[in-house]
Amino acid sequence: MYGLKTDWLEEPTPRYYTLGDYEGETARWCTGCGDHAVLTAVQRVCKEEQLPPDKTVFVSGIGCSSRFPHYMKTYGFHGLHGRALPVACGIRSRRPDLHIFVVTGDGDCCSIGTAHWIHAVHYNMNLVVMLFDNNCYGLTKNQTSPTSPKGSKSNTHPRGAALDPLNPVQITLAITNASFVARTVDWNPPHLFATLQAAHRHKGLSFVQIIQRCPHYKAGVHDPLQSDPSQLLLMTHPDGIQLDDSIKGIFKNQREHDPSDMDAARALARDPEGVSIGLFYRNESGERYDEYTALGIATSRDEKIAALKAELSLYQI
Ligand code: SF4
Repeated sequence: MYGLKTDWLEEPTPRYYTLGDYEGETARWCTGCGDHAVLTAVQRVCKEEQLPPDKTVFVSGIGCSSRFPHYMKTYGFHGLHGRALPVACGIRSRRPDLHIFVVTGDGDCCSIGTAHWIHAVHYNMNLVVMLFDNNCYGLTKNQTSPTSPKGSKSNTHPRGAALDPLNPVQITLAITNASFVARTVDWNPPHLFATLQAAHRHKGLSFVQIIQRCPHYKAGVHDPLQSDPSQLLLMTHPDGIQLDDSIKGIFKNQREHDPSDMDAARALARDPEGVSIGLFYRNESGERYDEYTALGIATSRDEKIAALKAELSLYQI
C-alpha cells in the first residue's frame, strides 16, 4: 500500500517574531508621507500580537496607500480600484484562521468602492479596515476626492472643491450592524498603535479612519491640528482606546465617551467640539456573516456531494 509516511514529521518549534519578520520592500512613498507612520504602527501591532506572517494577509485596492501589501513580509493582494473589501470578504469566507487587514484610501473606499464599503460593514466579517484618508487622489497626481476639504485646490477643481466633504465616520455609524468605528491620526504614534491594536482584537469588522498627511499635494492641511492639539477632541473611556497618562496629557480637549452609546457616537462624529479621535462605537455581539460562511468548511467532498443531491431532490417534479 502506498501512502505518505508522516510519523517522522516534526511540529515546527514556536518562535518569537521580530519586527524584521514583517518588513517587506523599502516603501516608495514620498518623504514625510503619513503612510510611513502607519506602516510602522501596523508592523508593531503584528509583532506585539505575534501574528504569524504566513497567517496574515493585507488586501488593498488602488492608490498611494494601496501599495502597502508590498511593504509587508506577509501574504498580500494588491487588487483593483475600490475592490479591496469584496476580496477580503471572500478570503475571510473560506479562511477563518487568517488575520486579514484591508488597506484602502478615501478615493478607493469612499468613491468607486462605496457600495462595497456599505455592504462590508453590514456583513461585519472579522476584518481590520484601515481608511488612509489623505483628502485627495495622490497616486493620479491630485484630484478632488470625496473627503477633500471645501475650497481645497486640485487638478479637477483648480478654484477649490465646491462641496463640503463626506465624513467617513458618520457614514459608517449609519450602516446597520456597524460594530467597531474609530478615528486616529498618523502623527501620534501611540494613539495610532493603540487604535490599530484594539481594532485587531475586535471580533467583527473594525473600521478605522486614519487622518493621513499628504505633504506632496495637501501640504499644511493638517498643520493646525498638529500644532494645536486642542483642536482635537480625545474620546476617553475604560472601554475605549487606552493611552498612557503622559500621552493623554498632550490633549487639552478630552471628553469621556461610552463606546456602547450609538446616539452619543453619532453626535460626536459631527465633530462639534473639534475633530474627535478615539473609539466612537463598539458592539461585540453584532451578527457576523463569516460565521455563516464558515459553516461546513470542514465537510468532506463526499459529504458535500451527498448534501447537494439531497438539496437538488427538493426540486424534482
Ligand atoms: Fe503620500 Fe501624498 Fe506622496 Fe501619495 S502623493 S505618497 S499620499 S505624500
